[in-house]
Formats: sequence, C-alpha cells, structure tokens
Amino acid sequence: MTRATCPICRKAEVDPGYRPFCSKRCADIDLGRWFTGRYAVPGPPAGEMAKATARMGPDAGQADRPRL
Ligand SMILES: [Zn+2]
Repeated sequence: MTRATCPICRKAEVDPGYRPFCSKRCADIDLGRWFTGRYAVPGPPAGEMAKATARMGPDAGQADRPRL
C-alpha cells in the first residue's frame, strides 16, 4: 500500500489526516453517501431500528460493522 488515491475524486494526493480521502470535503461526501445508503434501504421502521441498535452489545453487530 504505497499508493493511495482518494476514492471520491480519485486525486492522488491523500491527506494523512483524512485517509483514505484527500480532504475533509471528500471524507464528508463519503460519510454522507454511507449514511444515505444505510437509511435509504427499505427496512423496519425507526422504532425497530432503535431496538436493534439498543440490543447491540460488545459481541453483537460484528457483521454489520462498516469496513472502513
Ligand atoms: Zn478527494
């Protein structure tokens, strides 16, 4: 891994503080996409969502953990 490019804009210069992104802007864009994708998927209503989240303990949710 000697060469990294920003996954958002493909710029070759990546800011170490915002890896793997080139800047906070691109990091925010990616975060926004991630949230949008997560909350856009058809699924249980918010109440069910909250219950599922509350149930998550140290041993739970490993499969759902985003791989960043
Ligand atoms: Zn970028």
